[in-house]
Amino acid sequence: MSKVVGIDLGTTNSVVAALEEGQPWVIPDEEGEQLLPSYVGLSESGQLLVGQAARRQYAAAPERTVKSIKRQMGTDYTVTLGDLTYRPQEISAILLRSLKQRAEAMLEEEVAQAVITVPAYFTDAQRQATKEAGEIAGFEVLQILNEPTAAALVFEVKTEDSEKVLVYDLGGGTFDVSIVEITGEVTEVLASHGNNRLGGDDFDRQLQRHLADRFFQTHDVEVPNDAATQARLLQAAEQAKIALSEHAFTTVREPFLVSKGETALHLEAEIAREDFENLIKPYLKETLEAIDRALEDANMSAADLDQVILVGGSTRIPLIQHQVEAHLPDTPVSSFEPDLCVGLGAALQAGVLTGEDIDAILVDVSPHSLGIAAIMDTQMGAMPGFFSTIIPRNTVIPTSRSKVYYTSMDGQETVEIEVFQGENPIARENVPLGSFLIEGIPQKPAGAVQVEVHFDFDLNGILTVTATEKGKGQQESLVVNDAETGRLSSHELSQARDAIASLFETAVEDFEDEDLEIEVDKALEITSEDSGDEAN
Ligand code: AMP
Repeated sequence: MSKVVGIDLGTTNSVVAALEEGQPWVIPDEEGEQLLPSYVGLSESGQLLVGQAARRQYAAAPERTVKSIKRQMGTDYTVTLGDLTYRPQEISAILLRSLKQRAEAMLEEEVAQAVITVPAYFTDAQRQATKEAGEIAGFEVLQILNEPTAAALVFEVKTEDSEKVLVYDLGGGTFDVSIVEITGEVTEVLASHGNNRLGGDDFDRQLQRHLADRFFQTHDVEVPNDAATQARLLQAAEQAKIALSEHAFTTVREPFLVSKGETALHLEAEIAREDFENLIKPYLKETLEAIDRALEDANMSAADLDQVILVGGSTRIPLIQHQVEAHLPDTPVSSFEPDLCVGLGAALQAGVLTGEDIDAILVDVSPHSLGIAAIMDTQMGAMPGFFSTIIPRNTVIPTSRSKVYYTSMDGQETVEIEVFQGENPIARENVPLGSFLIEGIPQKPAGAVQVEVHFDFDLNGILTVTATEKGKGQQESLVVNDAETGRLSSHELSQARDAIASLFETAVEDFEDEDLEIEVDKALEITSEDSGDEAN
């Protein structure tokens, strides 16, 4: 029998974990590294680089390196590497395939199935793209699991009593807060809130700008806006950020950053932890507000919480720990392997799904409300474009719900079903998931024809909508996955799978720093300013 793994496919780092006698463990690479940096690149000679090797070339060759691709999942964004163009799910598939190889080498067995985690606040399109990435990498994806839920599963193994736990998960690119109730062996998510575009990457960019300002103050010269220089500055910023989690001060040194005529100008700046903290406070405020919103959604007050767990690399920043503690003063805040616990939880869930003897049952919720656009009777008469919720957010999944709607015009022959997710009462202010038509409706007076709209929301967070005209019984349905969300056809999937597999046939090259050229003109860094659907 082939092995099953759990994978945390992170914005910055990814992790693969497996079960050994019911206990999850992280599978390291040959050098003993547990994290795979989520970077993909091509070396100068055109060889595929994944992880640390790609990360190391980023500052020197950003045009041949892709990072933070998770921020683009579910959009139609593409990147070009060498002569080829890739969709976000294909770049993610390269990371997943590399983790698959790592697991197979270490376990000395085929690894065919995986549970892959996503932020609880990921939209349907982002989940679909993640599932596709797994399939392109050659996995059977058993489940797309919410990251905070995975973290709570690990925590659950460590506790005996029933507890209400708040999981605060701040990684490289995303933020999630979830409230879970652990009763014996059952982990139930009560509420979930977050921002898919908030994380350590934003802190790096703030510090990058700050470093550029400091450089200007010293030399009266702007740091040029070319990709190579900015990539160096960004990496220096991330290193400084990490150093400031340990030390009150750090010095950033980037020699020969800019040249002015014949003179080379160096960046040398001492950064105080407090300077960095001031830069990130607005982001932290948003995360604290999300805690309050999640508590509200779960109908709880802070006093009802038994425990807070901090997950994600960015929670190593001392200010974050202090602010969460100050915000929830009566609740103990703990942290357990913040970089690894999501992957460990995914491995546990993979074990549950494949019938291993593990005492954990998971109850998850839908992170967004789901519904359709409808005409509503108001005091001012019938108004179109209202959002009629069919599955309210935080409903336990899997779930199926139906609502009946009526035609609004005499002799109406078609009904358009437009599906949205979000919380705004105006349908178009929410995220569109797709639409379809029911045609050939029997011509009758307004209100005389009934259409039942049925929503099926599965454990992976994927929605199927079916609408049935009750008289003649015409039925149309939609799995929310059409072109709008960038979903691939099965033919495209198998083509992508072959293309990625053949990339791996050329061995992933070891990388030598000395070979780098420092001349680059265009970066592929995925920034939050890039296009793409916001989830909230
Ligand atoms: P994750 O997505 O959970 O792997 O988190 C990655 C993010 O955590 C990146 O933005 C890292 O720069 C950040 N990170 C990792 N270690 C630290 C640290 N010691 N202090 C501050 N940020 C960190």
